[in-house]
Amino acid sequence: MKVLKFGGTSVANATNIKLVLDIVANKAKQDKIIVVVSALSKVTDTLHLAAAKAAANDESFKEIIADIEKMHLDTLKQLIPVSEQSGLLSHVKRIINHLETLLDGCYLLGELSARTLDTILSFGELLSSYIIAEALKQNLKSSSYKDSRELIRTNNNFGKATVNFDVTNLLIAEFFSFNKDQVVVMPGFISSSTDGISTTLGRGGSDYTAAIVAAALDASDLEIWTDVNGMFTANPKIVKQAQPIATISYQEAMELSHFGAKVLYPPTIQPVLQKNIPLYIKNTFSPEEEGTYISNNPIATTNPVKGISHIEKITLITLEGSGMIGVTGSSKRLFEVLSQMHINVIFITQASSEHSICIGIQNEDAEIAEIAINKAFEIEIDQNKVDPCIVEQNLCIIALVGENMKNHQGLSGKMFSTLGKNNVNIRAIAQGASERNISAVINERDVKKALNTLHERFFEDNTKQLNLFVMGVGNVGEKFMEQINQQRKFLKENLKINLRIIAVSNSRKMHFDEDGIDLKTWQAVLADGEPASQQEFVSKVKKLNLRNSIFVDITANQGVSQLYEQFLKESVGVVTCNKIACASEFSNYKHLKNLSRQYNAPFLFETNVGAGLPIIDTVKNLIASGDKVNKIQAVLSGSLNFIFNNFDEKNSFHDVVKEAGVQGFTEPDPTIDLSGIDVARKILILIRESGYTMDIEEIANESFLPPACLQTKSNEEFFASLIEYAAHFDGIYQEALSKDSRLKYVAQFENGKASVGLQFIPKDHPFYNLEGKDNIVLFYTDRYVDQPLLIKGAGAGAAVTASGIFADVIRIGNV
Ligand code: ADP
Ligand code: ASP
Ligand code: MG
Repeated sequence: MKVLKFGGTSVANATNIKLVLDIVANKAKQDKIIVVVSALSKVTDTLHLAAAKAAANDESFKEIIADIEKMHLDTLKQLIPVSEQSGLLSHVKRIINHLETLLDGCYLLGELSARTLDTILSFGELLSSYIIAEALKQNLKSSSYKDSRELIRTNNNFGKATVNFDVTNLLIAEFFSFNKDQVVVMPGFISSSTDGISTTLGRGGSDYTAAIVAAALDASDLEIWTDVNGMFTANPKIVKQAQPIATISYQEAMELSHFGAKVLYPPTIQPVLQKNIPLYIKNTFSPEEEGTYISNNPIATTNPVKGISHIEKITLITLEGSGMIGVTGSSKRLFEVLSQMHINVIFITQASSEHSICIGIQNEDAEIAEIAINKAFEIEIDQNKVDPCIVEQNLCIIALVGENMKNHQGLSGKMFSTLGKNNVNIRAIAQGASERNISAVINERDVKKALNTLHERFFEDNTKQLNLFVMGVGNVGEKFMEQINQQRKFLKENLKINLRIIAVSNSRKMHFDEDGIDLKTWQAVLADGEPASQQEFVSKVKKLNLRNSIFVDITANQGVSQLYEQFLKESVGVVTCNKIACASEFSNYKHLKNLSRQYNAPFLFETNVGAGLPIIDTVKNLIASGDKVNKIQAVLSGSLNFIFNNFDEKNSFHDVVKEAGVQGFTEPDPTIDLSGIDVARKILILIRESGYTMDIEEIANESFLPPACLQTKSNEEFFASLIEYAAHFDGIYQEALSKDSRLKYVAQFENGKASVGLQFIPKDHPFYNLEGKDNIVLFYTDRYVDQPLLIKGAGAGAAVTASGIFADVIRIGNV
């Protein structure tokens, strides 16, 4: 004998019910089957709403009932041949009439007692089970219907009645000892009190009905048929990567369901556990899927964590005060008062000092609990021995569950460091005495992030999802997107990094997509995006609150650089090629670095110096390994290098600068490069990263440009001035020739002093042969004394800069 339970979505309409009938017919070939059914999807909620409206004197309950009637009549018509329909339709109408009479009563009295509500809610299952039993009879003559209220007896705790197992087990055994039908259909969820009044077993209680029947009859299996492929490693609606759990112990399943895995109503396990009846969770819509097998001896897995679940709408109540220390009975009194008020305590922690005790309850119980506790401790509160209780609402409990967790060290450490890294604030922690769960109370707004991060950490084979928010998609940004598109698959397979672009923005438009923007069509989507706004961008990133979020700044904009602080404070990493922040006042640079440390949010800017060349990373490694940078000599401007490498008798200074602009080697405003400001910023950043304190004004910058060129107000004026002062530039060139040297724009740091400027570089110097737009840096350190550490290579260009930004992103992924 098997008991099969089908949930609300499985019986939502005629199409679904046909799937159910097929499954039942198949199983009934080998075994006697008891089918327990829920109400049609959402009907219980709708009945609840109708009852509340009627009691509030709102006539619209009638429309709701009309909808319910239509839904059931339609379903019946689609399942039963026309010739058989009339009697059945009248029966359904009679049931609905009865329901309407009850609701009219509520309407007239303006009242809805718990007892009446249970009777009203029972109609959902009464209707569904009647229709399904009749539909089954069409093809299976040996089938019948039994009203569960005649078999399951409870006390009269309406809303969630307690089963009297002695009576119930006897009634069930007795009925089935006579019933010889191959299939019996029963309504789930409903029962009756010893005096015959309808009661219910609590929301979601049809699972429990099935377990009660299975246990009473020593069934060979209990199968819970629902709309997902089993019990998942986390709620599949919130964690997309969640996977069905193949096998799990009763205790683990119970723990997961207690902590919110709605797929199984928590009391369901107890009856089948006692009888050691295997429990399966199966998907009505994919019956061929394995589902989950719950038993006493699940197959051992290497992962000690079986699943992660959560309960929403939690309130924490903390009672504290010196009066609680060493006073026996404070906790007893606290729990007594809660029990008197029928308040379910979901979570408990007590500091070992006994100075405070903290409990987690449902939000809806908070108000009553607060009043009751303060009343119970009135005297102590008056005497200032205990404080009035502290109430914090809108929290949520998340729990890691697994039988084997107790044999593994460091799991809670892993759990809390993972949450901490993602800026999830933990309000309270508890480890179940069974050591089958570790639970934490967090803010409701963090729940999605927390579940996903923990899931990634414990179940996803160390795959890390990085969520990027990209601002600036000009030359470099476009290349960056292109490179990500090319490398995504490789990164996922080889480095276990799953890169997603959640937002892109240029100065006009921005576009967000929580599921990741398609990298092939991002340009079109952005063109249709909403108007760009930096503040709105920040707010959206905060609101999405995704794990491993990274803001990528590919602009040269001051305003954008001022957003970093807000991101870092939210533990959102920042990767930037924009030099403005790191070259701003030292205090700001330091502040950002500190925020990065404090909030565990990476702040990387490798491309600020030498585009994609690993210069900053090298300095960091030198310093971290205990070296000291004493002197830096560098050619750091790809654009100036290009200009001075191409400037000769044939090509005028003006033409070469123009050409550099056309090729994208200069900043949009070429004076930023030619004035030396850009190089000064770069050496400043290197000096700071080497551990020295310095500001931009301290860097000597002797410009090779005549002052008039620098005072121009537009690019046109600037270029005109280059023609006007052609003789000045030719003079510099001739001087270099006469000294048998080449012109290089050099940045220097030595003895605490820094300078940038044009230099005549002789033949034997390492800079002499520097070609094209290459950069070169020489680090003289305690370890590299005579022969400097040298880094050289292409230091400008969209592709290399984009790959440098990309490398920073990967660095974050590899942490
Ligand atoms: P039914 O109506 O069949 O009883 P429920 O809605 O009560 O179905 O339970 C199934 C739902 O439980 C799933 O659709 C899923 O959204 C939710 N759920 C929450 N946590 C889990 C989990 N860990 N595994 C599977 N489903 C879960
Ligand atoms: N129909 C009831 C409810 O929605 C019982 C169940 O579906 O398990 O709570
Ligand atoms: Mg359910």
